[in-house]
Amino acid sequence: MIPFNIPPYVPQSSEYIAQVIAGRKICGDGEFTKRCNRELEKITGAPKALLTTSGTSALELAALLLDIQPGDEVILPSFTFVSTANAFVLRGAKAIFADVCPDTMNLDPDCVKKAITAKTKAIAPVHYAGVCCEMDALRSLAKEYHLGMVEDAAQAITSTYHGEAAGAMSDVGCFSFHETKNFSMGEGGAVILNDDAMVERAEILREKGTDRSRFYRGQVDKYTWVDIGSSFLPSELNAAYLLAQLEQRDEITAKRMARWMEYDDGLADLECKGRLERMKIPEGCTHNAHMYYIKLRDQEERSRLIAYLKERDICAVFHYIPLHSAKAGLRFGSFVGEDRFTTRDSERLLRLPLYYEMTTADSAKVIEAIHGFFA
Ligand SMILES: *Cc1c(COP(=O)(O)O)cnc(C)c1O
Repeated sequence: MIPFNIPPYVPQSSEYIAQVIAGRKICGDGEFTKRCNRELEKITGAPKALLTTSGTSALELAALLLDIQPGDEVILPSFTFVSTANAFVLRGAKAIFADVCPDTMNLDPDCVKKAITAKTKAIAPVHYAGVCCEMDALRSLAKEYHLGMVEDAAQAITSTYHGEAAGAMSDVGCFSFHETKNFSMGEGGAVILNDDAMVERAEILREKGTDRSRFYRGQVDKYTWVDIGSSFLPSELNAAYLLAQLEQRDEITAKRMARWMEYDDGLADLECKGRLERMKIPEGCTHNAHMYYIKLRDQEERSRLIAYLKERDICAVFHYIPLHSAKAGLRFGSFVGEDRFTTRDSERLLRLPLYYEMTTADSAKVIEAIHGFFA
């Protein structure tokens, strides 16, 4: 049986968790959280990283930091996880969905440009499959129209765009450490802050609207309620689990990349014969092997391939019913411009198993089965 995912684990995590328990400090913002923050700052080169309880809460914190208000519009892809939209909808904003480029499934800057109105407050690009969006074009739009930008880099930790780190190319970058991501703490995430002015406010919002972080640093002699906020701090137990993986990120990424390359090489002939399409990595982008997906002819062929693989004990999955056509999407957002690729390509995209413990024999079995399907 080849599952779709096995959450990553490295033995050092057990050692670190034992240290947390022995130290009796299991609440948030202890030594292990701080060490994770430092690793994330090293990965991104950003001045400040703060762990959160999920990728979802990182996006919610980002929407608070950008001061999104009722009536604002935020432009994002429809082909994404619900949290990208919810974070802004929770602040009363309207989700404006723009079409994606078919080669990457990332926001098409030309479609974003056409969706900008006087109400637009921010753009939220998603680096789908760990492959970065066309950030130069998106950043120049943000600059020209004075828009905030939140990168949903949930899938893109360690990926780069022309040498710049995913998560560090906008006002706030958001990572996820859910168990399906490259590095995991069960449930968890982080915000990456690239603007020094936002760091202090982020610390306050994340600590229930108090200046507790300044108090711990001895900068104020008591802490109090100074702003709105919530609790975005994960437990030290979760941070300890994550830290070991962040420290071993090169080995973890190298193993995923080896499987990714095996898929890419092993399916090349099927692409040549026009049977399927493989992932495309744009010039100037390096990726983190978060995902391997293929595109089939249509939804019907995808369903048959999923069933064929299942009979051979291989679990392949698809995702993202486009948000604009979902029940809540109809209520809280709307698609602007033509839906040329979002719906069509979401129906024919299939994700293949890819996880840290996967072996060459596993990927060979998947590749062979896909060849069998088309034979
Ligand atoms: C995983 C993911 C999220 C949410 O992360 P959680 O940690 O599960 O809350 C948000 N956006 C994208 C694109 C994701 O892949």
